[in-house]
Amino acid sequence: MTQHTITVAKGDGIGPEIMDACLRVLSASGANLVYEEIEIGEKLYNAGVSSGIRPEAWDSLRKTKVFYKAPITTPQGGGVKSLNVTVRKTFGLFANIRPCFSLAPYVDTRFPTMDVIIVRENEEDLYAGIEHRQTADVYQCLKLITRPGAERIIRYGFEFARLNGRKKVSCFTKDNIMKLTDGLFHKVFDEIGAEYPELEQEHWIVDIGSAKLADNPEQFDVIILPNLYGDILSDVAAEIAGSVGLAGSANIGSELAMFEAIHGSAPRRAGQNLANPSGLLMGGVQMLQHLKEAEAAERVRLAWLKAIEDGVHTYDIYKEGVSKERVGTKEFADAIIARMGEAPAILKSRGQGGVWPSVPVLKPRPAPRKELVGVDLFVDWVDGPKALGDKLTVVMAEPFKLAMVTNRGVKVYPDGAPETFCVDHYRCRYLLPTGLKGSPALVAELMMRVAQAGFDVVKTEGLYTFDGEPGFSLGQGQ
Ligand code: NAD
Repeated sequence: MTQHTITVAKGDGIGPEIMDACLRVLSASGANLVYEEIEIGEKLYNAGVSSGIRPEAWDSLRKTKVFYKAPITTPQGGGVKSLNVTVRKTFGLFANIRPCFSLAPYVDTRFPTMDVIIVRENEEDLYAGIEHRQTADVYQCLKLITRPGAERIIRYGFEFARLNGRKKVSCFTKDNIMKLTDGLFHKVFDEIGAEYPELEQEHWIVDIGSAKLADNPEQFDVIILPNLYGDILSDVAAEIAGSVGLAGSANIGSELAMFEAIHGSAPRRAGQNLANPSGLLMGGVQMLQHLKEAEAAERVRLAWLKAIEDGVHTYDIYKEGVSKERVGTKEFADAIIARMGEAPAILKSRGQGGVWPSVPVLKPRPAPRKELVGVDLFVDWVDGPKALGDKLTVVMAEPFKLAMVTNRGVKVYPDGAPETFCVDHYRCRYLLPTGLKGSPALVAELMMRVAQAGFDVVKTEGLYTFDGEPGFSLGQGQ
């Protein structure tokens, strides 16, 4: 039997308990797994390792290419980076697959036939982690949606749906507001979806889509989401399916893959043999499928379902009248191991699937014709929009022309509404006359003149057209 060496991290909080339980179950599955343990998380953060991981640990990950990771505690506030995000991004783990399915009638849920696969983009969006404070009042986080990023996750989601016999693929974005970023995600969804005519397809604005998911999840099948919405909604989906403690999470890249639970380190439950290891175990089943150990994966899935069907439940899913035995983490693992080779009667089909697509290869695209047509200069200013506009109009800006000034996106000059609340961060939009070609040098010259007039320019954004299409949004009220 093929031997697989995998890197294991036991993490923080409930991590070590649930990981020990899962490793015992996986070892009993018949798969030939060898574990290489690395230390990550809180201990390292406290020792001053701001990344939460030591250089040697990267070597193990590069060697084994498979990471089985218990949750870690990410200290809040400044100074340290989230290790989860760092690992996902360093290794390009672009796809996050989170199945959320009901275990009714054995685990309480309002949605007995719910079976949703959340396909979450895992590297981009607001998780680029590019944040800046620009003025006394204003903090900014950059939201990045890229065409290759959107194409990869959306194609992966459609392929996953096709290979696993799914019927419908939904996409949630907020493209009525974020027309360029979320607009691109939606557009790519429509483009790639056209290649999968056998699958029903729909797009929802994320607010109403979320409401529908929370109220009627049984109408959804596979949902493809940008990073932040996927992060939030996979917790919602797991919780309404039964418990956040039940869902596993696969993070897939072209070289490496990481498997975990969707929940965190639940520090208040740590060290009490209370936590449900199911989420991490489902991550382990995904890992066995990824390792092409389909039979072992199936044995674990069925034994786990049998234990749940037999009413052996941890505190989070225990319910008087349904559950038979309230057990701790260790005893739950024992119950699964004792049922290895058995199958449940009712729950047999829950959580089936797990055929993993290969990482999509992107088709090359011709580079668009890109032209600079203007620039947004952001200035730190406290004396209100009228004084700012009046002072700016006497600054020599040729060949640019000041088109408008906005505050938090709303036009405040010329002809701003007196009611608009302003902070100390103004965007001054300068445009070039039609037909005049802009250049970075022209922008630098304008910036210099504005700065020499005494303005504190905190940021610039070039305004480009791509094949004639504007690559920037209008000001609200423009
Ligand atoms: P959490 O998911 O750790 O816990 C929230 C609550 O859910 C717990 O109080 C508990 O009631 C319940 N719960 C979670 N897992 C459970 C399980 N296995 N069995 C039974 N009940 C369970 O969320 P949090 O409290 O917001 O975060 C705690 C820490 O975890 C934070 O430091 C956060 O940054 C980190 N976190 C890590 C990961 C990860 O490592 N992938 C993911 C999310 C959060």
